[in-house]
Amino acid sequence: MAHAPAASHPEAAARFAADVPRTHWHDESLWFMRVKRDRAAAQVPEWERLRELAQAIKAHALATLPALLEQFERNATAAGATVHWARDAAEHNRIVHGLLAERGATRLVKSKSMLTEECGLNPYLEARGIEVVDTDLGERIVQFRDEPPSHIVLPAIHLKKEEIGALFHEKLGTAAGASDPKYLTEAARGHLRQKFLAAQAGLTGVNFAVADTGAVVVCTNEGNADMGTSLPPLHLACMGLEKIVPHAEDLGVFLRLLARSATGQPVTTYSTHFLGPRPGSELHIVIVDNGRSALLGRDPYRRALSCIRCGACMNTCPVFRRSGGHSYGVTVPGPIGSVLAPTIDPAAHAALPFASTLCGSCADVCPVRIDLHHQLLAWRGELAAAGHTPAGKRLALRFTAWVFASPARYALAGRLARFALRVLPAGIMARLAGPWGRQRELPAAPAESFRDRYRRTHGRA
Ligand code: SF4
Repeated sequence: MAHAPAASHPEAAARFAADVPRTHWHDESLWFMRVKRDRAAAQVPEWERLRELAQAIKAHALATLPALLEQFERNATAAGATVHWARDAAEHNRIVHGLLAERGATRLVKSKSMLTEECGLNPYLEARGIEVVDTDLGERIVQFRDEPPSHIVLPAIHLKKEEIGALFHEKLGTAAGASDPKYLTEAARGHLRQKFLAAQAGLTGVNFAVADTGAVVVCTNEGNADMGTSLPPLHLACMGLEKIVPHAEDLGVFLRLLARSATGQPVTTYSTHFLGPRPGSELHIVIVDNGRSALLGRDPYRRALSCIRCGACMNTCPVFRRSGGHSYGVTVPGPIGSVLAPTIDPAAHAALPFASTLCGSCADVCPVRIDLHHQLLAWRGELAAAGHTPAGKRLALRFTAWVFASPARYALAGRLARFALRVLPAGIMARLAGPWGRQRELPAAPAESFRDRYRRTHGRA
Protein backbone atom coordinates (compact mmCIF):
# COMPACT_ATOMS: atom_id res chain seq x y z
CA MET A 1 0.00 0.00 0.00
CA ALA A 2 2.88 2.37 0.69
CA HIS A 3 4.96 4.00 -2.01
CA ALA A 4 8.11 4.46 0.03
CA PRO A 5 7.55 7.76 1.81
CA ALA A 6 10.61 9.97 1.48
CA ALA A 7 9.83 11.61 4.82
CA SER A 8 7.32 11.37 7.63
CA HIS A 9 4.01 13.12 7.11
CA PRO A 10 4.88 16.19 9.21
CA GLU A 11 8.12 16.75 7.28
CA ALA A 12 6.57 16.18 3.86
CA ALA A 13 3.56 18.33 4.78
CA ALA A 14 5.85 21.15 5.92
CA ARG A 15 7.65 21.03 2.59
CA PHE A 16 4.34 21.24 0.71
CA ALA A 17 3.08 24.05 2.93
CA ALA A 18 6.29 26.04 2.43
CA ASP A 19 5.01 26.83 -1.08
CA VAL A 20 2.34 29.18 0.22
CA PRO A 21 0.58 30.07 -3.08
CA ARG A 22 0.34 26.39 -4.07
CA THR A 23 -1.00 25.46 -0.67
CA HIS A 24 -3.74 28.10 -0.90
CA TRP A 25 -4.60 27.10 -4.44
CA HIS A 26 -4.70 23.36 -3.55
CA ASP A 27 -6.85 24.13 -0.53
CA GLU A 28 -9.29 26.18 -2.61
CA SER A 29 -9.45 23.65 -5.47
CA LEU A 30 -10.45 20.85 -3.12
CA TRP A 31 -12.85 23.06 -1.21
CA PHE A 32 -14.51 23.85 -4.54
CA MET A 33 -15.12 20.08 -4.94
CA ARG A 34 -16.50 19.91 -1.42
CA VAL A 35 -18.94 22.75 -2.15
CA LYS A 36 -20.03 21.02 -5.37
CA ARG A 37 -20.61 17.85 -3.38
CA ASP A 38 -22.74 19.74 -0.86
CA ARG A 39 -24.88 21.29 -3.59
CA ALA A 40 -25.38 17.92 -5.31
CA ALA A 41 -26.29 16.21 -2.03
CA ALA A 42 -28.74 18.97 -1.13
CA GLN A 43 -30.68 18.29 -4.32
CA VAL A 44 -31.48 14.75 -3.20
CA PRO A 45 -34.12 14.88 -0.44
CA GLU A 46 -33.44 11.28 0.56
CA TRP A 47 -29.65 11.79 0.76
CA GLU A 48 -29.30 10.79 4.42
CA ARG A 49 -31.53 7.77 3.83
CA LEU A 50 -29.25 6.73 0.95
CA ARG A 51 -26.21 7.03 3.22
CA GLU A 52 -27.92 4.89 5.86
CA LEU A 53 -28.79 2.30 3.25
CA ALA A 54 -25.26 2.28 1.86
CA GLN A 55 -23.84 1.82 5.35
CA ALA A 56 -26.23 -1.07 6.04
CA ILE A 57 -25.57 -2.79 2.70
CA LYS A 58 -21.81 -2.59 3.21
CA ALA A 59 -22.12 -3.88 6.79
CA HIS A 60 -24.15 -6.82 5.51
CA ALA A 61 -21.67 -7.44 2.68
CA LEU A 62 -18.71 -7.45 5.09
CA ALA A 63 -20.55 -9.79 7.48
CA THR A 64 -21.25 -12.28 4.70
CA LEU A 65 -18.17 -11.66 2.59
CA PRO A 66 -17.00 -15.27 2.00
CA ALA A 67 -20.44 -16.40 0.81
CA LEU A 68 -20.88 -13.34 -1.41
CA LEU A 69 -17.47 -13.77 -3.00
CA GLU A 70 -18.18 -17.41 -3.79
CA GLN A 71 -21.58 -16.48 -5.21
CA PHE A 72 -19.89 -13.81 -7.32
CA GLU A 73 -17.31 -16.30 -8.59
CA ARG A 74 -20.03 -18.81 -9.56
CA ASN A 75 -22.06 -16.21 -11.44
CA ALA A 76 -19.09 -14.52 -13.11
CA THR A 77 -17.79 -17.91 -14.23
CA ALA A 78 -21.23 -18.90 -15.55
CA ALA A 79 -21.23 -15.66 -17.57
CA GLY A 80 -17.91 -16.66 -19.18
CA ALA A 81 -15.36 -14.78 -17.07
CA THR A 82 -12.40 -16.41 -15.33
CA VAL A 83 -11.92 -15.56 -11.67
CA HIS A 84 -8.48 -15.57 -10.03
CA TRP A 85 -7.66 -15.15 -6.34
CA ALA A 86 -4.57 -13.31 -5.11
CA ARG A 87 -3.46 -13.44 -1.48
CA ASP A 88 -1.22 -10.38 -1.78
CA ALA A 89 0.25 -7.81 -4.14
CA ALA A 90 3.00 -10.14 -5.33
CA GLU A 91 0.51 -12.84 -6.31
CA HIS A 92 -1.72 -10.27 -8.02
CA ASN A 93 1.20 -9.02 -10.10
CA ARG A 94 2.28 -12.56 -10.98
CA ILE A 95 -1.25 -13.44 -12.14
CA VAL A 96 -1.57 -10.32 -14.31
CA HIS A 97 1.87 -10.80 -15.81
CA GLY A 98 1.21 -14.51 -16.41
CA LEU A 99 -2.02 -13.76 -18.31
CA LEU A 100 -0.26 -11.18 -20.48
CA ALA A 101 2.83 -13.34 -21.07
CA GLU A 102 0.77 -16.42 -22.02
CA ARG A 103 -0.84 -14.37 -24.79
CA GLY A 104 2.34 -12.60 -25.85
CA ALA A 105 0.84 -9.21 -24.93
CA THR A 106 3.42 -6.46 -24.44
CA ARG A 107 1.18 -3.38 -24.70
CA LEU A 108 -1.34 -2.78 -21.92
CA VAL A 109 -3.73 0.15 -21.47
CA LYS A 110 -5.05 0.76 -17.97
CA SER A 111 -7.93 2.77 -16.61
CA LYS A 112 -7.73 4.16 -13.09
CA SER A 113 -7.10 1.47 -10.49
CA MET A 114 -5.89 2.33 -7.00
CA LEU A 115 -5.49 -1.40 -6.39
CA THR A 116 -2.81 -1.71 -9.06
CA GLU A 117 -1.09 1.35 -7.55
CA GLU A 118 -1.25 -0.39 -4.18
CA CYS A 119 0.30 -3.53 -5.71
CA GLY A 120 3.01 -1.64 -7.62
CA LEU A 121 1.86 -3.29 -10.86
CA ASN A 122 3.28 -0.74 -13.32
CA PRO A 123 6.95 -1.08 -12.34
CA TYR A 124 6.52 -4.86 -12.04
CA LEU A 125 5.24 -5.17 -15.60
CA GLU A 126 7.61 -2.58 -17.05
CA ALA A 127 10.56 -4.49 -15.60
CA ARG A 128 9.32 -7.47 -17.61
CA GLY A 129 9.16 -5.65 -20.92
CA ILE A 130 5.49 -4.66 -20.94
CA GLU A 131 4.49 -1.13 -21.88
CA VAL A 132 1.84 0.10 -19.43
CA VAL A 133 -0.12 3.21 -20.36
CA ASP A 134 -2.41 4.82 -17.81
CA THR A 135 -5.28 6.23 -19.84
CA ASP A 136 -7.07 8.38 -17.28
CA LEU A 137 -5.82 11.89 -18.10
CA GLY A 138 -4.73 12.71 -14.55
CA GLU A 139 -3.08 9.30 -14.20
CA ARG A 140 -1.24 9.75 -17.49
CA ILE A 141 0.06 13.11 -16.29
CA VAL A 142 1.49 11.66 -13.07
CA GLN A 143 2.80 8.64 -14.98
CA PHE A 144 4.72 11.02 -17.29
CA ARG A 145 6.16 12.65 -14.15
CA ASP A 146 7.04 9.25 -12.70
CA GLU A 147 5.17 9.97 -9.49
CA PRO A 148 2.12 8.42 -7.79
CA PRO A 149 -1.34 10.03 -7.85
CA SER A 150 -1.82 12.59 -5.10
CA HIS A 151 -5.58 11.98 -4.81
CA ILE A 152 -7.64 8.89 -5.55
CA VAL A 153 -10.16 10.71 -7.77
CA LEU A 154 -8.09 13.71 -8.93
CA PRO A 155 -4.62 12.20 -9.40
CA ALA A 156 -2.95 15.41 -10.63
CA ILE A 157 -4.78 17.94 -8.45
CA HIS A 158 -1.43 19.09 -7.03
CA LEU A 159 -0.33 20.42 -10.44
CA LYS A 160 -1.13 23.69 -12.17
CA LYS A 161 -2.09 23.84 -15.83
CA GLU A 162 1.17 25.66 -16.65
CA GLU A 163 3.15 22.71 -15.23
CA ILE A 164 1.08 20.28 -17.28
CA GLY A 165 1.64 22.45 -20.36
CA ALA A 166 5.41 22.25 -19.86
CA LEU A 167 5.19 18.49 -19.31
CA PHE A 168 3.13 17.94 -22.46
CA HIS A 169 5.53 20.12 -24.43
CA GLU A 170 8.33 17.79 -23.37
CA LYS A 171 6.44 14.49 -23.74
CA LEU A 172 3.89 15.15 -26.47
CA GLY A 173 5.42 18.03 -28.40
CA THR A 174 2.67 20.56 -27.70
CA ALA A 175 3.45 24.23 -28.29
CA ALA A 176 5.91 25.75 -25.83
CA GLY A 177 4.16 27.82 -23.17
CA ALA A 178 0.68 26.49 -24.07
CA SER A 179 -1.47 25.83 -21.02
CA ASP A 180 -5.02 26.02 -22.35
CA PRO A 181 -6.76 22.98 -20.78
CA LYS A 182 -8.81 22.27 -23.92
CA TYR A 183 -5.71 22.32 -26.13
CA LEU A 184 -3.78 20.10 -23.73
CA THR A 185 -6.67 17.67 -23.39
CA GLU A 186 -6.97 17.41 -27.18
CA ALA A 187 -3.26 16.61 -27.37
CA ALA A 188 -3.59 13.91 -24.71
CA ARG A 189 -6.64 12.53 -26.51
CA GLY A 190 -4.71 12.12 -29.78
CA HIS A 191 -1.78 10.53 -27.97
CA LEU A 192 -3.97 8.10 -26.01
CA ARG A 193 -5.99 7.14 -29.08
CA GLN A 194 -2.82 5.72 -30.64
CA LYS A 195 -2.17 3.75 -27.46
CA PHE A 196 -5.73 2.38 -27.39
CA LEU A 197 -5.47 1.27 -31.02
CA ALA A 198 -2.13 -0.46 -30.42
CA ALA A 199 -3.06 -2.15 -27.12
CA GLN A 200 -3.13 -5.93 -26.85
CA ALA A 201 -4.86 -5.94 -23.44
CA GLY A 202 -6.92 -3.59 -21.30
CA LEU A 203 -6.89 -3.49 -17.50
CA THR A 204 -9.55 -1.79 -15.38
CA GLY A 205 -10.24 -1.40 -11.72
CA VAL A 206 -13.62 -2.37 -10.32
CA ASN A 207 -15.97 -0.02 -8.47
CA PHE A 208 -18.55 -2.67 -7.62
CA ALA A 209 -18.74 -6.45 -8.09
CA VAL A 210 -22.31 -7.74 -7.98
CA ALA A 211 -22.64 -11.10 -6.24
CA ASP A 212 -26.05 -12.10 -7.59
CA THR A 213 -25.17 -11.46 -11.24
CA GLY A 214 -21.40 -11.90 -11.49
CA ALA A 215 -21.03 -8.48 -13.18
CA VAL A 216 -18.35 -5.91 -12.42
CA VAL A 217 -19.12 -2.19 -12.68
CA VAL A 218 -16.49 0.35 -13.68
CA CYS A 219 -17.17 4.09 -13.39
CA THR A 220 -15.15 6.69 -15.32
CA ASN A 221 -15.75 10.20 -16.60
CA GLU A 222 -13.53 9.88 -19.63
CA GLY A 223 -14.77 6.64 -21.18
CA ASN A 224 -11.21 5.34 -21.12
CA ALA A 225 -12.16 2.05 -19.44
CA ASP A 226 -14.63 1.43 -22.26
CA MET A 227 -12.09 2.25 -24.96
CA GLY A 228 -9.48 0.09 -23.28
CA THR A 229 -11.75 -2.92 -23.06
CA SER A 230 -13.66 -2.60 -26.35
CA LEU A 231 -10.66 -2.89 -28.65
CA PRO A 232 -8.17 -5.48 -27.30
CA PRO A 233 -9.14 -9.16 -26.98
CA LEU A 234 -8.18 -9.39 -23.29
CA HIS A 235 -9.82 -7.54 -20.38
CA LEU A 236 -8.29 -7.84 -16.92
CA ALA A 237 -10.45 -6.47 -14.09
CA CYS A 238 -8.60 -6.18 -10.75
CA MET A 239 -10.53 -5.68 -7.53
CA GLY A 240 -10.03 -5.69 -3.79
CA LEU A 241 -12.29 -8.28 -2.18
CA GLU A 242 -14.27 -5.55 -0.40
CA LYS A 243 -15.77 -4.30 -3.67
CA ILE A 244 -18.58 -6.83 -3.48
CA VAL A 245 -22.23 -5.78 -3.19
CA PRO A 246 -24.94 -8.40 -2.78
CA HIS A 247 -27.52 -7.36 -5.36
CA ALA A 248 -27.79 -5.47 -8.64
CA GLU A 249 -30.43 -3.21 -7.00
CA ASP A 250 -27.79 -2.04 -4.51
CA LEU A 251 -26.13 -0.17 -7.35
CA GLY A 252 -29.07 2.23 -7.33
CA VAL A 253 -27.86 3.37 -3.91
CA PHE A 254 -24.12 3.41 -4.53
CA LEU A 255 -24.06 4.97 -7.98
CA ARG A 256 -26.17 7.88 -6.75
CA LEU A 257 -23.85 8.43 -3.81
CA LEU A 258 -20.52 7.88 -5.54
CA ALA A 259 -20.54 10.56 -8.23
CA ARG A 260 -22.17 13.21 -6.05
CA SER A 261 -19.70 12.58 -3.22
CA ALA A 262 -16.67 12.44 -5.52
CA THR A 263 -17.13 15.39 -7.86
CA GLY A 264 -20.63 16.77 -7.25
CA GLN A 265 -21.93 15.25 -10.48
CA PRO A 266 -25.38 13.61 -10.47
CA VAL A 267 -23.87 10.53 -12.08
CA THR A 268 -20.51 9.37 -13.38
CA THR A 269 -20.39 9.87 -17.15
CA TYR A 270 -19.78 6.19 -17.86
CA SER A 271 -20.93 3.42 -15.50
CA THR A 272 -20.21 0.29 -17.46
CA HIS A 273 -21.47 -3.15 -16.40
CA PHE A 274 -19.29 -6.01 -17.60
CA LEU A 275 -21.14 -9.33 -17.43
CA GLY A 276 -18.83 -11.89 -18.99
CA PRO A 277 -16.50 -11.20 -21.91
CA ARG A 278 -17.71 -9.69 -25.18
CA PRO A 279 -17.83 -12.21 -28.06
CA GLY A 280 -14.37 -13.23 -29.22
CA SER A 281 -12.55 -11.88 -26.17
CA GLU A 282 -11.59 -12.92 -22.64
CA LEU A 283 -12.48 -11.40 -19.27
CA HIS A 284 -10.29 -12.26 -16.28
CA ILE A 285 -11.23 -10.95 -12.84
CA VAL A 286 -8.48 -10.89 -10.20
CA ILE A 287 -9.78 -10.69 -6.62
CA VAL A 288 -7.11 -9.44 -4.22
CA ASP A 289 -6.85 -9.76 -0.45
CA ASN A 290 -3.53 -8.02 0.38
CA GLY A 291 -4.34 -7.51 4.06
CA ARG A 292 -8.07 -6.95 3.70
CA SER A 293 -9.26 -10.16 5.37
CA ALA A 294 -6.96 -9.42 8.32
CA LEU A 295 -8.54 -5.98 8.57
CA LEU A 296 -11.98 -7.59 8.55
CA GLY A 297 -11.18 -9.09 11.94
CA ARG A 298 -10.03 -5.82 13.51
CA ASP A 299 -12.59 -3.72 15.27
CA PRO A 300 -13.06 -0.77 15.02
CA TYR A 301 -11.08 -0.46 11.80
CA ARG A 302 -12.99 -3.10 9.83
CA ARG A 303 -15.56 -0.50 8.80
CA ALA A 304 -12.90 1.16 6.68
CA LEU A 305 -13.49 -1.72 4.27
CA SER A 306 -16.84 -0.11 3.40
CA CYS A 307 -15.02 2.69 1.59
CA ILE A 308 -16.17 3.26 -2.00
CA ARG A 309 -13.14 5.48 -2.79
CA CYS A 310 -15.07 8.65 -3.56
CA GLY A 311 -12.39 10.96 -2.16
CA ALA A 312 -14.89 13.20 -0.34
CA CYS A 313 -13.06 12.82 2.98
CA MET A 314 -9.90 14.15 1.31
CA ASN A 315 -11.66 17.13 -0.26
CA THR A 316 -13.04 18.24 3.08
CA CYS A 317 -10.08 17.42 5.34
CA PRO A 318 -8.33 20.66 6.43
CA VAL A 319 -5.05 18.79 6.82
CA PHE A 320 -5.19 17.07 3.42
CA ARG A 321 -6.12 20.29 1.67
CA ARG A 322 -3.10 22.04 3.13
CA SER A 323 -0.56 19.25 3.01
CA GLY A 324 -1.18 17.53 -0.35
CA GLY A 325 -1.71 13.83 -1.02
CA HIS A 326 1.94 12.94 -1.54
CA SER A 327 2.79 13.94 2.02
CA TYR A 328 1.00 10.81 3.28
CA GLY A 329 3.37 8.46 1.43
CA VAL A 330 0.64 5.89 0.75
CA THR A 331 -1.54 5.02 -2.23
CA VAL A 332 -4.77 6.03 -0.52
CA PRO A 333 -4.06 9.26 1.41
CA GLY A 334 -6.27 11.49 3.54
CA PRO A 335 -8.46 10.40 6.44
CA ILE A 336 -9.34 6.96 5.04
CA GLY A 337 -5.70 6.30 4.11
CA SER A 338 -4.64 7.30 7.61
CA VAL A 339 -6.92 4.60 9.00
CA LEU A 340 -5.93 1.94 6.45
CA ALA A 341 -2.15 2.41 6.29
CA PRO A 342 -1.34 1.57 9.95
CA THR A 343 -3.26 -1.70 9.61
CA ILE A 344 -0.56 -2.80 7.16
CA ASP A 345 2.48 -1.40 8.99
CA PRO A 346 1.80 0.48 12.26
CA ALA A 347 5.39 1.56 12.82
CA ALA A 348 5.92 2.93 9.31
CA HIS A 349 2.67 4.90 9.27
CA ALA A 350 2.38 5.89 12.91
CA ALA A 351 2.30 9.60 12.05
CA LEU A 352 -0.77 9.38 9.80
CA PRO A 353 -3.56 9.12 12.40
CA PHE A 354 -2.17 12.37 13.81
CA ALA A 355 -2.60 14.10 10.44
CA SER A 356 -6.11 15.12 11.40
CA THR A 357 -7.83 17.81 13.42
CA LEU A 358 -10.46 15.23 14.46
CA CYS A 359 -13.07 17.79 13.40
CA GLY A 360 -15.28 15.00 12.08
CA SER A 361 -15.89 16.62 8.69
CA CYS A 362 -14.64 13.46 6.96
CA ALA A 363 -17.25 11.33 8.70
CA ASP A 364 -19.94 13.93 7.92
CA VAL A 365 -19.38 13.72 4.18
CA CYS A 366 -18.60 10.01 3.90
CA PRO A 367 -21.35 8.43 1.76
CA VAL A 368 -21.07 5.12 3.65
CA ARG A 369 -20.86 6.86 7.02
CA ILE A 370 -17.51 5.51 8.17
CA ASP A 371 -16.72 7.03 11.57
CA LEU A 372 -13.29 8.08 10.36
CA HIS A 373 -12.42 10.53 13.14
CA HIS A 374 -13.27 7.96 15.81
CA GLN A 375 -11.05 5.44 14.08
CA LEU A 376 -8.21 7.93 13.85
CA LEU A 377 -8.55 8.63 17.56
CA ALA A 378 -8.55 4.90 18.31
CA TRP A 379 -5.37 4.52 16.26
CA ARG A 380 -3.67 7.31 18.22
CA GLY A 381 -4.28 5.48 21.48
CA GLU A 382 -3.15 2.18 20.04
CA LEU A 383 0.00 3.57 18.46
CA ALA A 384 0.97 5.53 21.57
CA ALA A 385 0.43 2.44 23.77
CA ALA A 386 2.64 0.43 21.42
CA GLY A 387 5.39 3.06 21.64
CA HIS A 388 5.13 4.09 17.98
CA THR A 389 4.85 7.82 18.67
CA PRO A 390 8.00 9.99 19.07
CA ALA A 391 9.25 10.46 22.63
CA GLY A 392 8.91 14.26 22.32
CA LYS A 393 5.23 13.95 21.41
CA ARG A 394 4.56 11.51 24.27
CA LEU A 395 6.25 13.87 26.71
CA ALA A 396 4.34 16.89 25.39
CA LEU A 397 1.02 15.04 25.65
CA ARG A 398 1.78 13.88 29.20
CA PHE A 399 2.58 17.45 30.15
CA THR A 400 -0.62 18.68 28.47
CA ALA A 401 -2.66 16.06 30.33
CA TRP A 402 -1.05 17.20 33.61
CA VAL A 403 -1.95 20.83 32.84
CA PHE A 404 -5.51 19.98 31.79
CA ALA A 405 -6.07 17.88 34.93
CA SER A 406 -6.04 20.95 37.18
CA PRO A 407 -8.17 24.11 36.70
CA ALA A 408 -5.45 26.17 38.41
CA ARG A 409 -2.69 24.85 36.16
CA TYR A 410 -4.93 25.29 33.11
CA ALA A 411 -5.67 28.92 34.00
CA LEU A 412 -1.99 29.65 34.67
CA ALA A 413 -0.98 28.10 31.33
CA GLY A 414 -3.59 30.23 29.55
CA ARG A 415 -2.26 33.40 31.18
CA LEU A 416 1.33 32.49 30.24
CA ALA A 417 0.34 31.74 26.63
CA ARG A 418 -1.52 35.03 26.24
CA PHE A 419 1.38 36.89 27.81
CA ALA A 420 3.81 35.24 25.36
CA LEU A 421 1.58 36.12 22.42
CA ARG A 422 1.51 39.76 23.48
CA VAL A 423 5.17 40.31 24.29
CA LEU A 424 7.06 38.07 21.84
CA PRO A 425 7.73 39.62 18.42
CA ALA A 426 5.45 38.39 15.61
CA GLY A 427 8.43 36.89 13.77
CA ILE A 428 9.28 34.62 16.70
CA MET A 429 5.65 33.54 17.10
CA ALA A 430 5.38 32.74 13.39
CA ARG A 431 8.57 30.71 13.64
CA LEU A 432 7.22 28.81 16.64
CA ALA A 433 3.99 28.13 14.75
CA GLY A 434 5.97 26.63 11.86
CA PRO A 435 4.91 26.73 8.19
CA TRP A 436 1.23 26.84 9.11
CA GLY A 437 1.77 30.03 11.08
CA ARG A 438 3.88 31.67 8.37
CA GLN A 439 0.95 31.37 5.96
CA ARG A 440 -1.43 33.26 8.13
CA GLU A 441 -1.92 36.60 9.75
CA LEU A 442 -1.93 35.52 13.36
CA PRO A 443 -4.71 37.39 15.18
CA ALA A 444 -3.70 39.58 18.08
CA ALA A 445 -3.78 37.72 21.38
CA PRO A 446 -6.86 38.52 23.49
CA ALA A 447 -6.01 40.35 26.68
CA GLU A 448 -8.19 38.10 28.83
CA SER A 449 -9.37 34.53 28.74
CA PHE A 450 -12.93 33.59 27.81
CA ARG A 451 -13.59 32.65 31.42
CA ASP A 452 -12.32 35.98 32.73
CA ARG A 453 -14.42 37.83 30.19
CA TYR A 454 -17.51 35.80 31.15
CA ARG A 455 -16.94 36.61 34.80
CA ARG A 456 -16.51 40.30 34.01
CA THR A 457 -19.59 40.56 31.79
CA HIS A 458 -21.87 38.25 33.82
CA GLY A 459 -20.54 38.96 37.24
CA ARG A 460 -20.09 35.30 38.18
CA ALA A 461 -18.01 32.24 37.42
S1 SF4 B 1 -13.85 6.95 3.54
FE1 SF4 B 1 -15.85 7.61 2.84
S2 SF4 B 1 -15.51 9.72 2.13
FE2 SF4 B 1 -13.47 8.76 2.25
S3 SF4 B 1 -13.07 7.95 0.20
FE3 SF4 B 1 -14.02 6.30 1.40
S4 SF4 B 1 -16.21 6.44 0.97
FE4 SF4 B 1 -15.30 8.37 0.32
